[in-house]
Amino acid sequence: MKVLKFGGTSVANAQNIKLVLEIVEQKSKEDKLIVAVSAFSGVTDLLISAASKAASKDDSYRDVVLQIEKKHLEAIKELVPANEQTALLHYCKKNISYLETLLDGCYLLGELTARTSDMIVSFGELLSSYIIAEAMKQKVANSSFKDSRELIKTDTNFGKAEVYFELTNKNIQNYFSEDSTQVTVIPGFIASSSNKNTTTLGRGGSDYTAAILAAALNVTELEIWTDVNGMFTANPKIVKQAQPIEKITYEEAMELSHFGAKVLYPPTIQPVLSKNIPIWIKNTFEPEAFGTYISSESNPNGNPIKGISHIDKISLITLEGSGMVGVAGVSKRLFEVLSNHSINVIFITQASSEHSICIGILNADADLAKTAIDKIFELENSQQKINPCVVEKDLCIVALVGEQMKNHQGISGKMFSTLGKNNVNIRAIAQGASERNISVVINENDVKKALNTLHERFFEEQTKQLNLFVMGVGNVGEKFIEQIHQQKKFLKENLKINLRVIALSNSRKMVFDEEGISLKDWKTDLDNGEKTSKADFIEKTKALNLRNSIFVDITANTEVSKTYEHYLRKNIAVVTCNKIACSSEYDNYLNLKRLSRKYNAPFLFETNVGAGLPIIDTLKHLIASGDRIHKIQAVLSGSLNFIFNNFSETYTFHDVVKEAGVQGFTEPDPKIDLSGVDVARKILILIRESGYQMEMEDIENISFLPKECMETKTNEDFFKSLIKHSSHFENLLKEAKEKDCRLKFVAKFDNGKASVGLQFIPKESPFYNLEGKDNIVEFFTDRYVDQPLIIKGAGAGAAVTASGIFADVIRIGNV
Ligand code: ADP
Ligand code: ASP
Ligand code: MG
Repeated sequence: MKVLKFGGTSVANAQNIKLVLEIVEQKSKEDKLIVAVSAFSGVTDLLISAASKAASKDDSYRDVVLQIEKKHLEAIKELVPANEQTALLHYCKKNISYLETLLDGCYLLGELTARTSDMIVSFGELLSSYIIAEAMKQKVANSSFKDSRELIKTDTNFGKAEVYFELTNKNIQNYFSEDSTQVTVIPGFIASSSNKNTTTLGRGGSDYTAAILAAALNVTELEIWTDVNGMFTANPKIVKQAQPIEKITYEEAMELSHFGAKVLYPPTIQPVLSKNIPIWIKNTFEPEAFGTYISSESNPNGNPIKGISHIDKISLITLEGSGMVGVAGVSKRLFEVLSNHSINVIFITQASSEHSICIGILNADADLAKTAIDKIFELENSQQKINPCVVEKDLCIVALVGEQMKNHQGISGKMFSTLGKNNVNIRAIAQGASERNISVVINENDVKKALNTLHERFFEEQTKQLNLFVMGVGNVGEKFIEQIHQQKKFLKENLKINLRVIALSNSRKMVFDEEGISLKDWKTDLDNGEKTSKADFIEKTKALNLRNSIFVDITANTEVSKTYEHYLRKNIAVVTCNKIACSSEYDNYLNLKRLSRKYNAPFLFETNVGAGLPIIDTLKHLIASGDRIHKIQAVLSGSLNFIFNNFSETYTFHDVVKEAGVQGFTEPDPKIDLSGVDVARKILILIRESGYQMEMEDIENISFLPKECMETKTNEDFFKSLIKHSSHFENLLKEAKEKDCRLKFVAKFDNGKASVGLQFIPKESPFYNLEGKDNIVEFFTDRYVDQPLIIKGAGAGAAVTASGIFADVIRIGNV
C-alpha cells in the first residue's frame, strides 16, 4: 500500500486534476492507494479572506463565495460526464450554501472564533476531495471517498491542532483493514476533535495528513506530489540555478523545511521517520523527473551542504543586562512566557558571557512578545538589572543545511565571507548543536542576494554571476556590448563567469531587466525603454540588490562621474573609462578609493590611461610588490599621436583633427585632447596611482594651441579657429622637419614635478617611431633603473577601449 498526496497546484483545475487521475490510475494497477488531496490552489486563502471580511462586516465576502463556487462547478463540468453530474453538483451546492450560512453568521455577529474559522476553511479540502473522488470513479471503478475527520482525531487547538496518535492510528487501521477499495480519496489538512468539531493541522497540513496515514498503516512509501521536481537546493522561485536534491536524510529534510522550504510541511517527517518509511517528492507536471528521495540513508561523500533555506518576516528580540549573568532561571522565565502566549521561537543564541539572549520569532508575534517579556521582567527592569527587551523587525533567517557539515571545517567561514563580500550584514548567528545547520539572521532586503550568492558558492562549481549596469552606449559602449555578446559562452564554459547586462542607458533612454537584457536586441529594448535619469538609474540598481553588481561608466560625463560613490557605498563595483573622477580633486579620488576598500567594491579604471593597454594594472603590481616609481615619461594621447603622425604638407591640421574625431580617437570635445587637458589627466592618474599626491593645477601644461583656439566655446568655432591659425601649425611642422625631429605630445613626471607639452623628438628617442595612435609609457623605478619598464601599443580606439573595460570586468570576476 502507498499513500500519495497531491498539493494545491496539482489540483488547481480540471486540467491538472486529469493529470492526477492518470498518475493514480497507473499506480493503482500495482498497489492499493490512499490519495490525500489539498484544496484547489488558492481556495484556502480565499476562505480565510471571506471569513475575515464577514467578521469585519464587509459584505463582499459573498463575491468571494461566488468565486469559490464557480471554480468548483467548472471543474465538475469538465471532470464528470453530464449525465452523472447531478448528485455531485447538488453536494457541492449544499456545501457552498452551508459555508455561506456560516459566513452570514460571522457577518451578523461581527466575530470569527478560531473554531468557526477551522470550520470555514475545511470546505476547501471537503469540496476538492469529494469532486476528485467522483472523478476518480471514472478511471478506477473500485475507488471511494473517506472523510478524514472520521479518522484523524485532535485536540481543540484550532488552526494548528495536535493529533491524538493512539486513537487516530487505531481509527485508520480499523477502517482500512476492512476496506477493500483500490483507491481511497481523502481530504488533507482537516481533522476533528473528540466532540466532533472540525479542526485543521496548520497551513500546508495536507502533507501531514498523508504522513499520518502512511505511518499508521506502515505503508511502503509516501509520495508527495507537487509543482516542482523535488526538494531543491534552494527555493527555485528565488534562486534560478537551484537544482532538485536527489537524496536527502529525514533530518536534513526536516531542517530545510523547518527553515522555510515550503515544499514539505515540517511536521510531516516525524511520523514516517519513526517507521522508516521513505518519502518521494514528485512533480505532477513532470512525473518522469526523478524527484527527491527522503530516507535514513546518508551519503558521507557528497556535498556536505544539502540545501539553503530561509524564513522571512522575522523579528529578533534581545534581552540584555548585567542582572542576567550567573542568575539561574532567566532563560526559563523568558521561554515560559513565550510559550504561555503560544509564541514559536525559531532561532536562539546566547552570548557566552550570559550577558544577553537573542531569539528569533515571527514579526507577527513581536509586539505581543515584547509586552509579555517586559512584563515578566518588570522588577529587574526597574532595578536596572535587565534592560527592556529590544525588538528588530523585518529580518530573515537563512540556513545552510547538511548532515555532513560536522565533518568539514571552514563551512561557516565560507558562508560569512561570501555574505561579507556582498555587503550582507549578519545580525545574528546560530549553529545547531547537531551541526546540521548554520543559520544567520540578515536584513530582509538582502535575502535574494544572500541566497543566490551562497548558492553560487556552495553548489555551482564556482560559477560566478556578474551583473552589469552600463551607462553610455556610444562608440565604445556599443563595442563593449558586442564583445560581451560574443564572449558570453566562452566565459561561462572556461572561466565560469556568467556575465549578464541588467541595465543599459544612453542620454535619452534606459532599460532594466532583472533576468538580463538580450544582447541581440538590446538596441530595440533600449529604444523602448523609459526616459533616462541618473538618480533613477542609481535607485533601481540599488533596489535590485543583485550580487556582484558592477556599474560600468562608458561616458565622458562629469555628472555621471559624481555618482560613483553612491554605487560603491552599496557594494556595487565601478568600472569606468571616464577619467574625470580620478583626475578631479585629490580628496575625491582618495575618497573613492577609500569607499572601494571599505565596502569591498572594486573601483577599476584601467582604460583611463592607454585604452586597453595594461598600464595601471602593471603599475599596481609594481607598487604592491614594493617597487617605487621615480620617473614617468610617456606619450599618452592616441589622438594627438594620430594627429601629428598624419599631419603633413598635404594633409592640413584641421582635416586631420576632423578625421581623428570621425574615427573615434578624440574625446567628443576635441579641445580636451588638443589643449593637453586629456594628457594632463592621464599623467595625473598615473602619478596618483604611483602613490603621490598631486592636483591638476600642479601639472605644467605647455600648450601648442594659439590662445584664440583655446578660447573657443563650441566645436564648430574650434574647427574654424584651426583653419584660421593653419600657418601656426604649419610652422611647427616646418621647424620639426628642419631639426630632423618628429612632433610628439609628451607627458613627464620627474622628481615630484609634472608637465605635458609638444616636443621635438629626435631620431634616437624611443618615442620617435611611435606610429598611428600608439601610446608609450616608460616607468623608471627602484628596480628599473637604467632601462625603464616600457609599455607600448594602440592607445585609442573603440575596440581596444572596450576590451580594456571588459578586462576590468573580468578582473572582478576573478577575485
Ligand atoms: P503544494 O501545494 O503542492 O503543497 P507548496 O506550494 O506547499 O505546494 O510547495 C511547493 C513550493 O515550495 C514550490 O512551488 C516552491 O515555490 C516552494 N519551495 C520553497 N523552497 C523550496 C525548496 N527548497 N525546494 C522546492 N520547493 C521549494
Ligand atoms: N489547503 C491548505 C493550505 O493551503 C493545506 C494544504 O494545502 O496543505 O494551507
Ligand atoms: Mg504544501
